[in-house]
Amino acid sequence: MKERKFETDAIRIQTPTTGEREHSTPLYMTSSFVFESAEQARALFANEIEGNVYSRYSNPNTDEFIEKICRLEGASSGVATASGMAGIFSSLAALLQQGDHILASRSLFGSTHQILSQILPRWGITFTYADINDPGSWESLIQDNTKLLFLETPSNPGLDLIDLEWAGELARAHELIYVVDNCFATPYLQRPMEYGTDVIMHSATKFIDGQGRAIGGVIVGKDEYMDEIAFFNRHTGPALSPFNAWLFSKSLETLPVRMDRHCDNAEKLADFLGEHKQVKRVKYPFHKDHPQLELARKQMKRGGGVVCFEIKGGYERAKSFIDKTTMLSRSANLGDSRTIVTHPASTTHSKLSEEERQQVGITPGLIRIAAGLEAVEDILDDVEQALN
Ligand SMILES: *Cc1c(COP(=O)(O)O)cnc(C)c1O
Repeated sequence: MKERKFETDAIRIQTPTTGEREHSTPLYMTSSFVFESAEQARALFANEIEGNVYSRYSNPNTDEFIEKICRLEGASSGVATASGMAGIFSSLAALLQQGDHILASRSLFGSTHQILSQILPRWGITFTYADINDPGSWESLIQDNTKLLFLETPSNPGLDLIDLEWAGELARAHELIYVVDNCFATPYLQRPMEYGTDVIMHSATKFIDGQGRAIGGVIVGKDEYMDEIAFFNRHTGPALSPFNAWLFSKSLETLPVRMDRHCDNAEKLADFLGEHKQVKRVKYPFHKDHPQLELARKQMKRGGGVVCFEIKGGYERAKSFIDKTTMLSRSANLGDSRTIVTHPASTTHSKLSEEERQQVGITPGLIRIAAGLEAVEDILDDVEQALN
């Protein structure tokens, strides 16, 4: 049989039904599952047969969500977590031990930066940052104890790209576990497993939910690594709730249509901003002025839903732009059906030092817009009146 298309699997993968002939997967709000016999209980605990025991280990809603993400990413197994950060922390904790070293791209999600710089060092796990714009330097930063390569592309909020194929070769040459946070692109736009990635991180809170309703995460990858992460999570317990898993699995049914609309709106917004005289520069992976446009076309299907621009006049003008918007939501989230405007330097990236912000291009005038699903004319109208 021919392999089904991405769009179809995002809809048609479903857990076995209950016998009630329901069409849509029901919600399994149950903490535990009953055994038909003492013998079945023994066999389940001995892993001789497969089945649900307790929702910290597995649950039909969580399993359906994981199965879909695995299919969409081309991964063989996965674990769902209570948040994106729970997934990132538990994966690093499961895969590393005292004395290990991480090589990471410098432009990381704020809390990932806190885990690397403030939390893991307490257990003797160290890190070095590599600059996205200087790939030639990465190899020299690998130490004897470097175990893992961690990156995020496109980066947040700079929207710089890392060549996934090149990074895969680097990881293989030095036997590093190759980890990618694929939250910004989603598997609809970018599939890191095709470039040899071992483990993929997602904050399901963003485009996977897509409607700003729930916090969650999911990690997928190769069995040899996922087995370690699954063991760690089973016993330490950062499990995703069945309710949130049910929401996310429903949301995946519309991921391809939503992502196309996010991209349509973001492209038009980037074009508009690129021509506006109050704008110093615009950054969007598929915009004609992006320095890595060719790489974007190679490894991404489209440019994604986030656009950044630098307003002329610095922080004061950035603040007044944000305060003058009437429809856009002032929020720190992204990947919502509602368009969101953020000032990274004073909010999501305020914990970085001035120097660290400069290194990743977060200037006082930088504004991030996460394009939603509204009619693009209304988004552009609001942006235009706030700029003028
Ligand atoms: C939001 C985000 C996270 C963290 O996810 P939570 O669900 O908020 O814990 C991690 N990485 C990236 C790129 C994100 O945007």
